[in-house]
Amino acid sequence: MTEYEAVIGLEIHAELMTASKMFCGCRVVDSVTAPPNTATCPVCLGMPGMLPVINKRAVELAIRVGLALNCTIQRHNIFARKNYFYPDLPKSYQISQYELPLALDGHLDIELASGETKRIDIRRVHLEEDTGKLTHLDKDSQFPQGGTLVDYNRSGVPLLEIVSEPNIRSGEEARAYAVKIRQILRYLEVNSGDMEKGVFRVEPNISLRPAGTETFGTRTELKNLNSFRALADGTAYELVRQAEILDAGGQVVQETRGWNESKRLTFSQRSKEEAEDYRYFPEPDLPPLEITDEWVESVKLTLPELPDTKRARYMADFELSAYDASVLVEERAVANWFEHTLAVSDVDPAPSPKSIANWMINDLFRLMNEHKQGVADIKFEPAAFVQLIGLVENNTVNNNTAKDVLTEMYQSGRPAAEIIQAKGLAQISDETAIFEIISQVIRENPDTVAAYLSGKDKLRGWFVGQVMKATKGKANPEIVNRRLAEQLDQLK
Ligand SMILES: [Zn+2]
Repeated sequence: MTEYEAVIGLEIHAELMTASKMFCGCRVVDSVTAPPNTATCPVCLGMPGMLPVINKRAVELAIRVGLALNCTIQRHNIFARKNYFYPDLPKSYQISQYELPLALDGHLDIELASGETKRIDIRRVHLEEDTGKLTHLDKDSQFPQGGTLVDYNRSGVPLLEIVSEPNIRSGEEARAYAVKIRQILRYLEVNSGDMEKGVFRVEPNISLRPAGTETFGTRTELKNLNSFRALADGTAYELVRQAEILDAGGQVVQETRGWNESKRLTFSQRSKEEAEDYRYFPEPDLPPLEITDEWVESVKLTLPELPDTKRARYMADFELSAYDASVLVEERAVANWFEHTLAVSDVDPAPSPKSIANWMINDLFRLMNEHKQGVADIKFEPAAFVQLIGLVENNTVNNNTAKDVLTEMYQSGRPAAEIIQAKGLAQISDETAIFEIISQVIRENPDTVAAYLSGKDKLRGWFVGQVMKATKGKANPEIVNRRLAEQLDQLK
């Protein structure tokens, strides 16, 4: 059997979060919830004689993405007509960019499961407009006679296409790349990343070649993947399918295929068009788009710290592990929340960033997951969170009690000190009081004491449990352990 190498390139389409559309003044609305065909005008409905105007904000957001993906921003840009006939495209052409796209020759480093980093080259980033949305009706729909509904609210929404070079080698790499692009677009606040609403769409083109050779095999393209899992699984399936065809001496057909999630297989949709089928030509209704150095420089100043830089900084400055740092930088809002905790200055002793990170990742994230909520839903401020950790570190409450207090804070938003006082949860650190409780536990359990003294060391934990029970979990564990050891040893 021949050994093959996978050759995968990704096209990512991302809608830009502008207020208005790419070439007209219509507002951009939620394509799922807005009433159909309520955000349209003669331009985005493709009426004859209407003239497009370039949305400056969309260009700005696209420059932002180009810079973040290490591309060269082209100063001289031309929009082009991409011609094809489909009911979601009222002009029967899409205004896109072809020979002179906005950004070229970038790259993105992705982390693989092995821990290694791999650089994926980015061929181009260009601006275009989205199409309308078609809904094919079946007999269970409101129109049982069938047919197709069309909603032009999405027609003309600014769309960015990001095209990678085909140096992706597996479904997992494709997934890691797409996940990271989405993360960066969200950091840049140019796209919400909401895949279920179709604002971020991924299309891999996939082929195989005998390992060690350079010529590309025939590729297929997977369309309409609506999750990262579908991307990884659909790509993996397609690689196996192509290998079986090639092993049997057959030829892969160049075509567009879909992914059936429930049957877990790809299926043929249509034969793939080549660029010449689209009869690209420069858009005569738009002037060339000239981007000045000053404009690029001013956009550069608006770029936030990106996840890789942030992660490296967290590891170097705060001694966080690679894992912890990755978790905290995954979303910009979470990283911001974490950074706000570091700015809290009125808590003494000041918890270390590492301690705050642990509490966030282990305890706060658990509560957020349980309630299926994000960082925006947290009812207390970062400062209140730091105050709670401060109360653990100055021994006002022990760790376990603090977890309960945090749960209460999460539900009510009340400050930790208030909850601790109202519920009498303050930690018992009084050595005499703890000595008395231990003495009582020893007095009341002579058999267990005898067993312990005969060598069953494991019973030490049982005694700790009894003392904690007697104090409703409020005893300072460090003191309990130390005093218990002393008092039991004295009996030996
Ligand atoms: Zn319009």
